[in-house]
Amino acid sequence: MLSGLVGIPVLLGRGGFNVPTNIEILEYAFQKAKSEGLEYVYLGNIGSNKGTNTYCPECGILTIRRVRFSIVISNLDKNGKCIHCNHQICIR
Ligand SMILES: [Zn+2]
Repeated sequence: MLSGLVGIPVLLGRGGFNVPTNIEILEYAFQKAKSEGLEYVYLGNIGSNKGTNTYCPECGILTIRRVRFSIVISNLDKNGKCIHCNHQICIR
């Protein structure tokens, strides 16, 4: 059902101007998206959570760490490939 989104970054953000989306609902949607094969789904605006980061879909190493409004990219070469397994990461 979500196969058209494989390889595309998908942000599941808490959002909501008056009533933020429940974190458990976001985590359920995150797990569902991962189980459907989405490689670059991540959670936003929820504070520190493993789901806010991006991991190499091939070897599982942390490639993008998100903390609030900052992003730390690691384990990627200058072309966006994982330095451990050479998998092309589609998020820049
Ligand atoms: Zn890798």
